[in-house]
Amino acid sequence: MRIKDVLKDDYRTIIREIPKTEIHLHIEGLASVDTIWSLKEKHNITLPGIKTKTDISKRFKVKNLDDFIDLFLNVIQNCFRTENDLDFLIQDTRDYLKRNNIFYAEIFFAPSKFVMNGFSFADMMNHLDNGAQLIQKEDNREIKFLIDVSRGFGPENAMNNLNLTLKNRKPSILGIGLGGAESKGPASDYKKVFKKARTHGLKVLAHAGEDVGPESIWSALKDLKVSRIGHGISAKFDPKLEQYLAKKQIPLEICPMSNIFTGKYATSYKNHPIRHFFDNGLYVTVNSDDPTIFGAELDDEYYNLLTNNIFSLEEIFLLMKNNLYATFLSDKEKTEHWKQMKQIMDKCFT
Ligand SMILES: [Zn+2]
Repeated sequence: MRIKDVLKDDYRTIIREIPKTEIHLHIEGLASVDTIWSLKEKHNITLPGIKTKTDISKRFKVKNLDDFIDLFLNVIQNCFRTENDLDFLIQDTRDYLKRNNIFYAEIFFAPSKFVMNGFSFADMMNHLDNGAQLIQKEDNREIKFLIDVSRGFGPENAMNNLNLTLKNRKPSILGIGLGGAESKGPASDYKKVFKKARTHGLKVLAHAGEDVGPESIWSALKDLKVSRIGHGISAKFDPKLEQYLAKKQIPLEICPMSNIFTGKYATSYKNHPIRHFFDNGLYVTVNSDDPTIFGAELDDEYYNLLTNNIFSLEEIFLLMKNNLYATFLSDKEKTEHWKQMKQIMDKCFT
């Protein structure tokens, strides 16, 4: 196969034109400058150092992890004051999916802080589920939610989030994830929560190996029995784990720019272990994590991997296929979607 000459300078268009899936992103990480400005005005919120929309834009250009945490906690999360405000995030999600031509996404939502601030879990789920239905009806794109029970506030809080999820089950809720600060505690602390979730037929996932070594990934696999690993990049330090992941074909939800940004196990596309994993037969997928905050959306990630010569276009297409097959869609749906994706991909080659 040879890429058509006419397309060689037009990778952005090619990537945009392929209908895609995404399996690792956080809805709070889709909040736009417009949303934060609208919420600030709506609730008359005073944000230190922020007088205009341009000030918010500047604050969104985070340079390090401290900036990121400050933006997330003091600006973004601080502006959500009622359950209705989640509708703004639904609009941001719609725009994001359209911009990146994503027809199906599995999206994390972390309720802990909202619940602590007195939000009704049931109301929040209604807004999210209605949002998913709206996107399906008007845009013909599908979103599913994964409730991030959160590692940052301990197992009791996580169990509370699970119980709330079970009490308020919606068609758009697929399961739970363990996100938040990995260094705050081992996955094994959440064994009971995850066992209960699995017993009730929920899908289970965890961030692991993003900020802590391979032992964190082992624990997510063995103690929580997750079906995919969020990030998983510290697996590069444990050949036995790499072999295990390759043998079992457990998908790694890799988010290159997010990893480069936090800088723990990669500082550039060139030294990111994604290529090493790919070459060693691990199941690699590409995702954006918190696109508006890290400044790289899904299409940017594929584009950057391509233009940094980490992957060829054929390999990028394979990664897109991997992403589709790592979703929780049915086998029949995957086959149908893959047929459509492949038709468009094939047009790029002579
Ligand atoms: Zn994440």
